Amino acid sequence: MRRTVDVTQEFHLGFEDALTPERRSDEHDLIEETARSFVGRDVLPRMEALESGDVAVLKALYRKAGELGLIGVDLPEKYGGLELDLLSSLLVSETLGETAGFGVSINIHSGVALHPILYFGDEAQRSSYLPRLAAGEVIASYALTEPDAGSDALHGKTSARLDEARKCYVLSGQKQWISNARVAGVFVVFAQLAGRGMTAFVVDRDRPGVSVGKEENKVGIHASPTASLILDDVEVPASALLGARGHGHRIALSVLNLARHKMALYALGQTRRAIRIAAAYAKERRQFGVPIASFGMIREKLGYMAARYFVARSAAYRTAGELAPGKKRALDLAFRSDLEPEEKVRSVASALSSCIAACSLNKVLATEVQAFVIDEAVQIHGGYGYMEDYEIARMYRDARITRIFEGTNEINRLAIVRDLISSRAREASACSSSAASPGGSASLAAALPAGRLRATLEGAEQVLRAMKKGFDTVVEAAVAREGARLVDEQPLVRRLADAHMWMYALESALVRVALAADGRGVARDLGAEFAAVAWADAVRHGVTPLLEAARHVGVKLDGLDYPDEIGQLQAIAEYVLDKVR
Ligand SMILES: Cc1cc2nc3c(=O)[nH]c(=O)nc-3n(C[C@H](O)[C@H](O)[C@H](O)COP(=O)(O)OP(=O)(O)OC[C@H]3O[C@@H](n4cnc5c(N)ncnc54)[C@H](O)[C@@H]3O)c2cc1C
Repeated sequence: MRRTVDVTQEFHLGFEDALTPERRSDEHDLIEETARSFVGRDVLPRMEALESGDVAVLKALYRKAGELGLIGVDLPEKYGGLELDLLSSLLVSETLGETAGFGVSINIHSGVALHPILYFGDEAQRSSYLPRLAAGEVIASYALTEPDAGSDALHGKTSARLDEARKCYVLSGQKQWISNARVAGVFVVFAQLAGRGMTAFVVDRDRPGVSVGKEENKVGIHASPTASLILDDVEVPASALLGARGHGHRIALSVLNLARHKMALYALGQTRRAIRIAAAYAKERRQFGVPIASFGMIREKLGYMAARYFVARSAAYRTAGELAPGKKRALDLAFRSDLEPEEKVRSVASALSSCIAACSLNKVLATEVQAFVIDEAVQIHGGYGYMEDYEIARMYRDARITRIFEGTNEINRLAIVRDLISSRAREASACSSSAASPGGSASLAAALPAGRLRATLEGAEQVLRAMKKGFDTVVEAAVAREGARLVDEQPLVRRLADAHMWMYALESALVRVALAADGRGVARDLGAEFAAVAWADAVRHGVTPLLEAARHVGVKLDGLDYPDEIGQLQAIAEYVLDKVR
């Protein structure tokens, strides 16, 4: 019998449990305010020093962030963390994202560099390193990339050999473009262990043979140090090995999965800041005798900027909720002492690798929204936006990197489709829970009172269902036509990834709006407007690639329409302008 599987079942979360920025307590407000005050009072006033490479200022800010608990927000208390909930850590990550290069540095330190030790370290490694990393006393780096191994990162040449007699490993090689290298006290290094394959090590900065190259002359994020790491016959004790021999690739990729989601939060922080800066400027700048904020084209820009931020933020918070069970399972497994090291790495990595497609799509969506928003913010500034005296000019330079690192957006698009196809083969997705989403039998709109919001949600849900059905048909046809080679058909993969990303984005926005209907904040006040623009955007950016993919594999799809959004964008702009003083 022919197997028909809904490859979009990943969407079927119980939407009433979805994580959204609105569903928060006073404690969440408090930790967000702590982060906001740190950003506003401590980091941004020191941006010039940070940008000029003042390492003392950078280190002092790490210690301050550590004192405030902003590095280890969700880290267990016994390692110096605050052990707060998921929403708290999202709010903090996003807020720290407002600090540009400093935000990149601390994002990498508290994510991709700290997570290998938390999830794959043994108790001795965890208790030795994590408290110092959480306190900001020691800064960490993640060293994977090499000159000839960028996207193809698992094929680096850095080597490790076991010296049986001296009970140590000897590491040699060069890692390239390592964030924090100049200030790091510890590096998580990936090397090819003779006869075993890629293996991870925790390498202290003060080991003989460790050195750091000159600071790179980058286009942006100057507040985030970047340099190469040189390992010249560096001897590390057997206790520096992380996880299990030959399992470094699992560690590298599973923490990268989390890092991609965390990078989305950083990008959202930059996006939010750019919207505020652009709106404030639009109100202040006068041309033709009036503020430029009164011009329809400027207002429409602000409308799109805020609407896309809303959508990308909805997706990122929702994914965090979907990731949470896997992260919890990973931590439980990490603390077990009855598992063999190999089995432990395998199972922890597998738990962390739930929601690969969702993590990758958030990285792509948030960084591309960031690029769009900052570009438009420069445009709103006119020529002044091109002058380095204006913060938005720096943000424009800073923004370029997020589409390149943590897996380029091309590599992440491949990851989205690979994960969807393999979930399809497994007939289940790690992210799926119940079937009560717009893609399932229940309707978000049905629970709402009659009115504009309900009507918009009904229309959007109808289109979303049609998109999902169409997507499923196209994937089915593509798999039938290409088989396993589908992932090598990159133009098709790109279109499928974009269609999937915008469906997920639309659904996330609709869920957030529906959940906020009787709550507080912008998702309630402008729910119908955000839903309408999210719907139009999903059609604009998701349906076109879907139709192109359908045509390519010989499938015909109809019934995909979207609303007039011109009025909605003006209403959103009105809100943004009203909020910014
Ligand atoms: C400022 C900065 C900080 C960084 N920090 C770190 C760090 O802390 N630790 C670390 O380990 N690394 C770090 N990196 C490295 C970063 O992760 C890599 O730059 C990135 O993975 C891309 O590799 P690459 O630059 O060699 O590009 P390449 O892999 O050479 O890619 C070039 C182009 O080809 C495309 N491409 C490559 N392969 C494929 C494919 N299979 N299909 C389709 N397109 C493809 C890419 O998308 C890209 O557009 C950093 C880089 C920079 C610039």
